[in-house]
Formats: sequence, structure tokens, C-alpha cells
Amino acid sequence: MYIKPNTLDEAVLALAAEPAQVLSGGTDFYPALGDRPVRGAVVDVSGLRELRGVTADAARIRIGGLTTWSEIIRTPLPRCFDALKAAAREVGSAQIQNRGTVAGNLCNASPAADGVPPLLALDAEVELVSKSEARRMPLAEFIVGNRKTRRRADELLTSVLVPRVVENAASAFVKLGARRYLVISISMVAAVVLLDDAGRVADARVAVGSCSAVARRLRELEGELVGAAAREGLGRRVRQEHLAPLSPIDDVRATAEYRMDASLALVQRVLNACVGVS
Ligand SMILES: Cc1cc2nc3c(=O)[nH]c(=O)nc-3n(C[C@H](O)[C@H](O)[C@H](O)COP(=O)(O)OP(=O)(O)OC[C@H]3O[C@@H](n4cnc5c(N)ncnc54)[C@H](O)[C@@H]3O)c2cc1C
Repeated sequence: MYIKPNTLDEAVLALAAEPAQVLSGGTDFYPALGDRPVRGAVVDVSGLRELRGVTADAARIRIGGLTTWSEIIRTPLPRCFDALKAAAREVGSAQIQNRGTVAGNLCNASPAADGVPPLLALDAEVELVSKSEARRMPLAEFIVGNRKTRRRADELLTSVLVPRVVENAASAFVKLGARRYLVISISMVAAVVLLDDAGRVADARVAVGSCSAVARRLRELEGELVGAAAREGLGRRVRQEHLAPLSPIDDVRATAEYRMDASLALVQRVLNACVGVS
């Protein structure tokens, strides 16, 4: 059965009525099928206009779950979203960015999902809505493993919420792949750095993707960076021990050892980029 609701209410009613797969932009959904036909019920949420676009209130910025990567690139956003915009430009190609959505990227929960590290670094939360309730949880708790999330089968990811606490912070994102374009990453890093009036780090967040089942924040490094003077660059403060939360695997794209070495260089580079040191 194929259902294409026009409103969120219709969509969650359909999901409550019977088990169904959610279809959004389809850019992960269809490739995952391989040669197999679609089986079971499908609720195509791509017509839910109310879940599109970015809005703001005093406390947070709300990214509708069905906002595409192209819309993220086009929308004027505070400086701390530069990493997310840079990641959006790296998602596949322009065609993929036009179809692929933020919710699809997060719910697919690939270790290599480009949207995850920048949103982790922004302390984003996700909002999940079912027929019976709406609930929120930190993105860091939502994705629990390779392709595993805490989404219940009757829930839709309706929005991503970013607290407005580091809006003027600099942010940057770098992705390393085996080639420049249309590539699944070997490692990727997002950072957000807020400086105080004296040019010292007041807040730092660093998240690394593709080097563990779920992208990870480097909390120990973040803590050590607070108070550091930005003018000499922050990259030189990063040591291999700071990457301890990562657990990369060997696969067709790179060895675990190479991933660790590359991640160290990417973390150094991204932190320097945040403070304008090359
Ligand atoms: C050629 C190609 C290149 C790609 N390159 C990249 C890349 O470089 N980086 C990258 O990160 N990704 C890449 N992708 C993957 C994909 O484009 C992104 O992950 C995209 O954001 C997925 O969004 P979607 O709307 O197409 O999701 P869909 O394919 O529609 O759905 C993906 C999953 O999320 C679920 N889902 C979707 N929306 C919701 C919702 N609102 N609530 C609950 N569940 C939902 C679906 O049930 C499905 O399990 C690529 C894909 C292709 C085909």
C-alpha cells in the first residue's frame, strides 16, 4: 500500500494504523532496496509542506525535517551554521541535495551521514511526533548505532532544534574521501568555536563522523580548548589521545589506522579554520 498524506495529522494517523516505511526524498530509501521491489506499506511524507524550511523563536532555530540540503544552503543562517551549510554542499551532488532531506539523513543513521557531526556540534535536538505524543531528545541520544535510532515505528522526525546559544561562534566542516566529489567520507569533522572579547576560547565543540558507528564529540579536547588563545591557532593543541572516543574500522575506503591519522589532521585543520589560522 502507498499513502501520500497532505498533512502531519494524516501522516501520523497512517503510521498509527499499520506498520509502514516512511519515504521522504528517497535518496537513501531506494538505493537500500538494491534490486528488490518495495514490500509492505509506504507512507510518502514528501508532500508535508509544514515540515519544510527553517524558522526561529527566541530560544531556538527549528529546521523542518523535510528541509532539503539545497534549502539549507540557500537559507540565511547564523554563523554557527556554517559547518552545516558546508556539509550540505558535500551531500552527493546538486540533484541529491535537491531531494535529500535532513530528517532522512538522520533517520537513515549512516555512520557517514554528513549532517550528523555539524548538528551534534550545535547540540541539536530532534522532535519526534506520533498520533499519541510529541517528544524531543538530543541528537546525541537519538542515533544509537549503525542504521539504528530511537525512533518508534509510528513516529516521524518532524524537526531539528538548535538552541540559540552560540550563534556568533565560528564553525567549519571538512570531509575527506577518496576523491573530491560524490563520495562517502573516510572521516569528517565539524567544529564550533566561540571566542570571548580577549580572543580566548569560551566554548568549543568538535564532532567526528565515519570513525565510529555513531559520530562522536571529542569532549576532553573541547574542555581543554576552553581558555586557549586563538591567535596562535588551536590545531597544535590536538593530540592523538583526544581521539580516544573514536573506534574506526578497516573497510574498502580506508584502514582504521589511516582513519585515525587523517582524523587528527582534519581536527587540527577545522579548529584552525574556525579561528582564521591556516
Ligand atoms: C548518489 C548518492 C550520493 C549520496 N551522497 C551522500 C553524501 O555525500 N553524504 C550523505 O550524508 N549522504 C549521502 N547520500 C544519502 C542521502 O542522500 C542523504 O542521507 C539524504 O539526506 C537522505 O534524505 P532522504 O529524504 O532522501 O531520505 P529517504 O531516502 O527518503 O529516507 C531515509 C531513511 O529515513 C527515513 N525517514 C525519512 N524521512 C523521515 C522522517 N521525516 N521521519 C522518520 N523517518 C524518516 C526513511 O524511512 C528511511 O529509512 C547520497 C545518496 C545518493 C543516492
